[in-house]
Amino acid sequence: MPISNRIAEFRDDMIRWRHHLHANPELSYQEHETAGFVAETLRANGIEVTEGIGGTGVIGVLHGSREGARSIGLRADMDALAIEERNDFAHRSKNKGVMHACGHDGHTAMLLGAARYLSETRNFAGQVVFIFQPAEEMGGTDGGAARMIREGLFEKFPCDELYGLHNWPGMDIGTFAVKAGPMMASGDSFEITISSTGMHAAQPHKGVDVILTAGHIIVALQQISARNIDPLDAIVVSATQVHGGDAYNVLPNTVTIRGTVRAFSPTARKSAEMGVRRVVEGISLATGAQCDVSYLQQYPTLINADGAARSAELAASSVFNRVETNPSQTMIVEDFAFMLENHPGCYGWIGNGPDDNGRILHSAWYDFNDDAFFYGASFFAGLVEGPRS
Ligand SMILES: [Zn+2]
Ligand SMILES: [Zn+2]
Repeated sequence: MPISNRIAEFRDDMIRWRHHLHANPELSYQEHETAGFVAETLRANGIEVTEGIGGTGVIGVLHGSREGARSIGLRADMDALAIEERNDFAHRSKNKGVMHACGHDGHTAMLLGAARYLSETRNFAGQVVFIFQPAEEMGGTDGGAARMIREGLFEKFPCDELYGLHNWPGMDIGTFAVKAGPMMASGDSFEITISSTGMHAAQPHKGVDVILTAGHIIVALQQISARNIDPLDAIVVSATQVHGGDAYNVLPNTVTIRGTVRAFSPTARKSAEMGVRRVVEGISLATGAQCDVSYLQQYPTLINADGAARSAELAASSVFNRVETNPSQTMIVEDFAFMLENHPGCYGWIGNGPDDNGRILHSAWYDFNDDAFFYGASFFAGLVEGPRS
C-alpha cells in the first residue's frame, strides 16, 4: 500500500494527538507532559525510547528490515509560547498564558504519525532516530538543539543525515518548499550600555546626554546594512529595545539598547559585528559617553546540504501537490541550524494554508492546519524508505 494511503487511514488519530498537545501546551524545558505523551505513543508502537536528553528531549529508535547501516534522524520541536490564546475552539489551550502558536504541536504529531507508519512497515534499511526536541523557542546556545548536542545526542544516536520541517502560513496546503544552501539566517544579539553622570534636564552642558547618544547610535546602526555590506548579501540590523530614564526633568545616567543582527554569509555576519562595535566606539568618542558593547553569536545560518536537499525534494515530490525548489530565504532563525552544522541534512517548509485572520506564526489566533498532517507524515516516512522502484 502506498505510504500516503496508510497514513491517511490514521489521520484522525494524528489530529486527536495534535489537539491534545494544543490543549496542553508547555513552555521551553517544561515540556514534561508533552515528553511523556511522546514517549508513551512511541512505546505503544514498539519503538525504543530514551528520555531526558537536553532536559525534556525524547529520542525514539527504530530498526528497518532491509539490509543497510544508514542512520537517518528526523526532528520535531515540542515547545509552546508565552501567549494567551484568543481562539475559542474545543482544543484551545487549557494552560493560561501558554499557547502552541508556532505549530510545534503539529510538528510533533506529524513525526509521531511517521513513526507509527514506519513501525508497522519497517520497510527501510538501517535505523531511524526520532528526535523530539524541547525549547526551540528559547533558541540560541541555551535552546533545545544546542543543549541536546552538548548532552551527547549524536554520540549516543549517530545520524548520517538529518531532516526537519516547519509549517509555513501563507503557503498552500499540499505545498513544500526547500532549497540547497543557506535557507534561514544566522542570529546574533547585542546589548549596548551607554553611561554618564546624569544631570538636570535644564542643564545638559553639565554632563553627557546618554539619551541623545542612544539616538545617534540607533540611527548610525542602520548604516551597517545600508553602506558597509554588499547590497546583494542580505542582512538586518534591528534595535529592538531601548531602556532609560524615568523623569521629565532628568537626563538619566544610563540607557541600554538591545537588538538583533540577522545574516546569511559569514562575511556579512562578521562585518556586522565589527560595524556595531565601530559605530558605538565612534559615537562614544563624539559625545563623550561611556559605551560598552556585549555581542553574542546565537544561531548559525541554517544551511541545507545539496544531497539532502535533493533527497527531500524527491521525497516531497511523491507526496505534495507542489514542490518549490527556490523559495525566498527568510531572516527568521531556527535552532535546527545547530544540528545541521555538523551533519548533512535539510530543513523545509510545509504549507499551512492562508495566513489571514491571525493565522500567522506567534499570533494569539494561530492554529496548526490539520490538513497538513497527511503531507508531513508521508514526507518523513518517504524520506526514510527512500525512492521507490
Ligand atoms: Zn516560533
Ligand atoms: Zn516554530
